[in-house]
Amino acid sequence: MTELIGQRSTRAWQDADTAHFLHPFTDFQALAHKGSRIIESAHNIYLRDTEGQRILDAMSGLWCVNVGYGQQALIDAATQQMGQLPFYNSFFQTTTPPAVALAEKLAAITPAQFQHVFFANSGSEGNDTVIRVVRRYWDLLGQPERHVIISRWNGYHGSTMGGASLSGMTYMHAQGGLPIPGITHIGQPHLFEFNLQRRSAGLPTVEEAEFGQMAARWLEDKILEVGPDKVAAFIGEPVQGAGGVIVPPATYWPEIQRICDKYGILLVSDEVICGFGRTGSWFGCETMGTRPDLMTFAKGVTSGYIPLGGVMVGERVAKVLIEQGGEFEHGYTYSGHPVACAVALANINLMQSTQLIEHVRDDIGPYLAQGFESLRDHPLVGDVQSCGLMAALHLVRSKSSSGPEVFDPQLGVGMICRGHCFGNGLIMRAVGDRMIIAPPLIMTRAQIDDMMALIRLCLDRTLVDLRTRNLWV
Ligand SMILES: *Cc1c(COP(=O)(O)O)cnc(C)c1O
Repeated sequence: MTELIGQRSTRAWQDADTAHFLHPFTDFQALAHKGSRIIESAHNIYLRDTEGQRILDAMSGLWCVNVGYGQQALIDAATQQMGQLPFYNSFFQTTTPPAVALAEKLAAITPAQFQHVFFANSGSEGNDTVIRVVRRYWDLLGQPERHVIISRWNGYHGSTMGGASLSGMTYMHAQGGLPIPGITHIGQPHLFEFNLQRRSAGLPTVEEAEFGQMAARWLEDKILEVGPDKVAAFIGEPVQGAGGVIVPPATYWPEIQRICDKYGILLVSDEVICGFGRTGSWFGCETMGTRPDLMTFAKGVTSGYIPLGGVMVGERVAKVLIEQGGEFEHGYTYSGHPVACAVALANINLMQSTQLIEHVRDDIGPYLAQGFESLRDHPLVGDVQSCGLMAALHLVRSKSSSGPEVFDPQLGVGMICRGHCFGNGLIMRAVGDRMIIAPPLIMTRAQIDDMMALIRLCLDRTLVDLRTRNLWV
């Protein structure tokens, strides 16, 4: 550790943490009782905490460390750029070589309709930019009443006022009077949950392909309800990440695209998680077969080594902003930050030179899918889904012939399982009773074998624990 930060005991770090640091999405008091785990260093796919425990980071930090930890090319890019030009803005009719080179690189690796980028510092800021761009576009076309943006319940688009409004997390909306006006939500393409509800209502379950069409048509219903001349855009994640790694049926996105085309509505792909190889293509829209007009990115663009986000602006929209727009009254001090852009370039170059996308698509993506499929025989596992290098398993109470039965959400079974994962050196996240992973894309087959063995071990320990607590019969 550097001299600047110094050495302290775990306990001393925890006490100072509690005294001064308000963590994101955290019950402060509950954390104060427990104390944070202090992550001190990392290499490849492993973290190390101040107690010396080695932890397999199956969440890539927070869905972002796609190339793994300790990549010298990214470290060198930051060091070199810090020395040469640590900052300059792009407000004063000025620019910097790393920002230009990254914009050019992004235009080259994104689908052909994208030739322009607007830089931000995070996914939330990127999605706030989306709201500004989308509304500006329709204003310039003389349709200012087209301001409504449709997104999905249980989608995640960030935590700023705009991002949290686009997000479909009702517990977020409940704090702060959200959503802001002009944002409305439709149901998510979550087959497992949909069929649970159908069964509890005594209705027959629905097949996957049919459900994909059905869920997409909720968009059309909403457009007709709001009025087609008032709807500006639809935004969605190709695969919902924070909502629980919900992989939509293959029939879903093509139908969404058809509906957006039919009503002339802009399609926005939130690629903050799915971008930069996560699904086995450069971008999730390529895996899902859509042609978005705008694309939000962040996280994987720098593999999380430094904050950077932004929006790819398709030519349909860019042309109007450029040719008819005059001054666009929006931007961030750090839009196109030279150090962040230099790191992003090094990250993308590394992904290209190591053929990381092909590695996910052809080798470890299918290998992980196979591993997760094999978990179906575990008594606690009622559903599994995966796409590229993200996967989910749903913990269930029983698997009778009439279908899986879930636990009472109040029991917090997902959190119990997460506790066993943390205790056994594995970071796996719980979203309700859905256990999710999104590991670094550099994983080898041997590392996936190790991870699957850990997952199985933690499921077994969870089962024993539930029996002891009389939660399993
Ligand atoms: C994480 C995330 C965001 C928000 O990004 P921040 O950098 O945390 O602001 C937006 N959209 C998606 C899909 C995300 O996963």
